[in-house]
Amino acid sequence: MIASIFQFLCGLIFSLFLPRLPLMVLPRLNVMDGQLAPFPMPQPVDKHLISQMLIMSTLWKLSFLFALIPLAVGYLILTSFASPIAFGLFIGAGWAILSRLIPTRGFSFPNTPYSTDLIHELNEIRIQEPTCCDSAEIVWETIAVRCQNCRTSHLDRARPDLGRLRNDGLIGRFRLLFLDGHPIINNNLDD
Ligand SMILES: [Zn+2]
Repeated sequence: MIASIFQFLCGLIFSLFLPRLPLMVLPRLNVMDGQLAPFPMPQPVDKHLISQMLIMSTLWKLSFLFALIPLAVGYLILTSFASPIAFGLFIGAGWAILSRLIPTRGFSFPNTPYSTDLIHELNEIRIQEPTCCDSAEIVWETIAVRCQNCRTSHLDRARPDLGRLRNDGLIGRFRLLFLDGHPIINNNLDD
């Protein structure tokens, strides 16, 4: 009985985290260097940020593909015999897909931290002439897009993971794995 529960949990955890790996690993490879500001500095709103957001958005969509693999494998095994690990794979992958589809706030669908609307808004900020002050410097800080010179907020959105190389070691890895790209703080609960 305990062995079955252990196998089920192994399958569950594997299929929950497998879809998160592309986003966690790929953007941090050397070849993918997007010339962004080093982590955890505020990131200037420039063309590098926009292209990085587009890459992150694509990688995030890849997670569906990585969730389908354990879903299919689990299902195929379950059709022939009852295996706790296959059941875990199936449930975990199903949950991974559902959690990406169901909006948790507002009405963003799917539940991505790299929505087209957000990228569009950032690009608008990038191409517009900033009017807040004379020497405006627009950067994306942890909780909002602000001007570094006069502190005016230009977009009230927390910064998701930008795929930059991190220096916070194992804790940072775990944080990435659990947050799946989403920012750790949510300040747009009522939009
Ligand atoms: Zn300013």
